[in-house]
Amino acid sequence: MNRDAARAKELREILTEANHRYYILDDPTISDADYDAALRELRSLEEQHPELRTDDSPTQRVGAPPAAAFEPYEHSRAMLSLANAMSHDELRSFDERVRKLTGSTPFTYTCELKIDGLAIALLYIDGRFARGGTRGDGIVGENVTENLRTIESIPLRLDGKNLPPTLEVRGEVYLKKSDFHKLNVQRERDGLAIFANPRNTASGGLRQLDPSLTRKRRLSFFAYQLATPIADVQGQFQALNRLAAFGFPVNHDVRQCATIEEVLVFVAEWENGRDDLDYEIDGVVVKVDSLALQEQLGAVARDPRWAIAFKFKPREAMTKLLGINVSVGRTGTLNPVAELAPVQIGGVVVRNATLHNAEYIASNDIRIGDTVIVTRAGDVIPRVVAPVLASRDGSERLFTMPTLCPVCGGPIDHPEGEAMSRCTNAACPAQAMERVRHFASRQAMDIEGLGEVLAEQLTTLNLVHDVSDIYALDAKKLGTVPRLAEKSIANVLHAIGESKQRGLARVLVGLSIRFVGAQTAQVLATHFGTMDALMAADGAALEAVPGVGKEVAAALLLFFSQARNRSIIKHLADSGVSLVAPISDAPMKTTLAGKTFVLTGTLPTMSRDEATAEIHAHGGRVTGSVSAKTSYVVVGDDPGSKAQKAAELGIPILDEEGLRALYS
Ligand code: NAD
Repeated sequence: MNRDAARAKELREILTEANHRYYILDDPTISDADYDAALRELRSLEEQHPELRTDDSPTQRVGAPPAAAFEPYEHSRAMLSLANAMSHDELRSFDERVRKLTGSTPFTYTCELKIDGLAIALLYIDGRFARGGTRGDGIVGENVTENLRTIESIPLRLDGKNLPPTLEVRGEVYLKKSDFHKLNVQRERDGLAIFANPRNTASGGLRQLDPSLTRKRRLSFFAYQLATPIADVQGQFQALNRLAAFGFPVNHDVRQCATIEEVLVFVAEWENGRDDLDYEIDGVVVKVDSLALQEQLGAVARDPRWAIAFKFKPREAMTKLLGINVSVGRTGTLNPVAELAPVQIGGVVVRNATLHNAEYIASNDIRIGDTVIVTRAGDVIPRVVAPVLASRDGSERLFTMPTLCPVCGGPIDHPEGEAMSRCTNAACPAQAMERVRHFASRQAMDIEGLGEVLAEQLTTLNLVHDVSDIYALDAKKLGTVPRLAEKSIANVLHAIGESKQRGLARVLVGLSIRFVGAQTAQVLATHFGTMDALMAADGAALEAVPGVGKEVAAALLLFFSQARNRSIIKHLADSGVSLVAPISDAPMKTTLAGKTFVLTGTLPTMSRDEATAEIHAHGGRVTGSVSAKTSYVVVGDDPGSKAQKAAELGIPILDEEGLRALYS
């Protein structure tokens, strides 16, 4: 056998095994990106050497044959897959191919979100749900009728007159992110391994032998295809409307586009907006709208010629867990951090990921040396979600949390009922360094030039033990820091001087009090006006402040009860740091009081942090999602679906200038 034939055989074996693990066991051992790359390589080999193409090649077949545990479900017509486009150029080539084949016939595209779940077919007889099945190998799927009945969004009876006597509908069963989160919270509570991602959880959930287990997964459904022709439905967009009229849940984020450039705009909007949805999408599906043209274009092997899936960059990857390092946070928490073999996720190289705490590592049975699944969504820190058990070879090692602080050697406390272990040495240099870095950060005192590197140098050189020491720095002390130029020293000292006037709210953020972030700090500063008044407040007075619960009140009382913290605050005051709100003697700004803002997209001159700070400084609030309670949505370039939602709810939309006009 020559090299190409051997490689084709190897790829067929890899892909067939991967299909079985993905579609039947719901427990893949290779990432989607690796799977897609292998399929592309095989396809290209077969194009160069057509004699290597076998009938059962994964390039010719959809999915995997149905599992024997289920009754077979025969599809009325083949249930196909979709060709993929990974780049804008591939999408343009698809458009060129379609235009070549359709000649001068004008047409539009219907663009839909590619829901990340599993495809199913539903059969209705005289308007009643009769049976349903998975896609299987496209010809025969698995009969999962009883399981489908447990999904509340699948109608058991259809609405409307003129229902065809038999109707087949196809769509996607998926798991909402919120339901996925709830399931995992419950599993963590029960000490069970968490589920790795909503897709496999949905697929595994639908393919249970006991329907009551399916019900527990709280699956959802979107319909996207009328598989039975209906005389007056001539296009995909119309089909979606008809499906909705029959009573099916249909995704409304659909757009008709006349050109591929318009399609690219839709793609870009959703690549940015996907985090705003309560379900995972892994791309956009672009379909030639006309059903007659679809028929004319037909299919090749496993993919229709009239549609393509534009795939977003994956959010998940598999890689080796090389080691687990423990870092110490600013409140003394011991954070296990995964050291990974570098891997691309969503366009960036990931080398480290969070492992939360020792309990998380144990209950998910994550071991050093494992192949692990790592996810990274939006700006969220990458995290290890699960080991790939099938890839173990016995060389993996269990992790144990250190019993002494890895930085200062101090004792570790792990309070009963708490997830995190903590270093109890208040003078631990790691904690000091993290607290100094945080104090100087933009959301707190915003001291330009005092970043991670200088914070580490200052604490290791013993020039700064706590945040109040920052104000005792002078040119002589800073002159002892290696490689810090005279100009930088002058700049940092200037920035330190400037920061004294940031006001009470920023100081409170900077002090690293548990549960006190920007919003709570602002509320406290506005309510109490001075640090003295805040420190004098008892539990009842604190809890009486809107937005301050028991937890926050207890954290504040604990913080102020410690002599060391009181002394830091005294030093800050003695150094001339303003501990009052509003800043110095300017009148209190309440222009935006009672108003709630949502920010989306990139603003022309302000960063998101700056816009948030301005809104806070004028008494307003910023939240993450649009609801009827939102007062304004501030929209920049490349907005997510929040802008659309605001328009739907009739909430006023502002640009940056409009926002400034509200308070200046
Ligand atoms: P696909 O996911 O690339 O596209 C087809 C599917 O898209 C349809 O079957 C349907 O389920 C779904 N879909 C969602 N929204 C849709 C909409 N609005 N309109 C039409 N379809 C919609 O193809 P596939 O054959 O289902 O799966 C192949 C992909 O699965 C691979 O590219 C790979 O990413 C993954 N896979 C991974 C492994 C692995 O081992 N990691 C194994 C097999 C498959």
